[in-house]
Amino acid sequence: MSNCSDHNLCINSALTEAEKICNQKNIRFTDLRRTVLKIIWQNHKAIKAYDILDQISGMNFSAKPPTVYRALDFLLENGFIHKINSLNSYIGCPHPLQNEQCYFIICSSCDEIEECSDENITNAIKTVMEKNKFTHKNIAIEIDGTCNSCLENRK
Ligand SMILES: [Zn+2]
Ligand SMILES: [Zn+2]
Repeated sequence: MSNCSDHNLCINSALTEAEKICNQKNIRFTDLRRTVLKIIWQNHKAIKAYDILDQISGMNFSAKPPTVYRALDFLLENGFIHKINSLNSYIGCPHPLQNEQCYFIICSSCDEIEECSDENITNAIKTVMEKNKFTHKNIAIEIDGTCNSCLENRK
């Protein structure tokens, strides 16, 4: 999938954005939180918690698993990352302030995930929720398949 030309820009903007939001909310963007976010952003693929733990333990962090899980919860709560339920993994969010209406397309060939947002889908879901008199909290839509560049490569 790789829609970015320079992934360092993705990483930098994600970290800068997170830092900015933390400053605005007056919450601490600790070294561990930053490192976990950076690990998750190493590519556009989802990463499992134990792979994050693995990479952390290879660094100079004395962080125990519960601390890392707390950092993950923090990143989730603040919208800096999303959980991909079908893969039981985490992915960085490129626009943490506007993630109410996002869904994910997951390429099962290159494993890359793209976050998309579409008002029409959100509105359709809201209408259905109203019809069912259900108050939703999270909307998670995960669509798996093959991205265009993987399809092209197969030819
Ligand atoms: Zn990128
Ligand atoms: Zn692909």
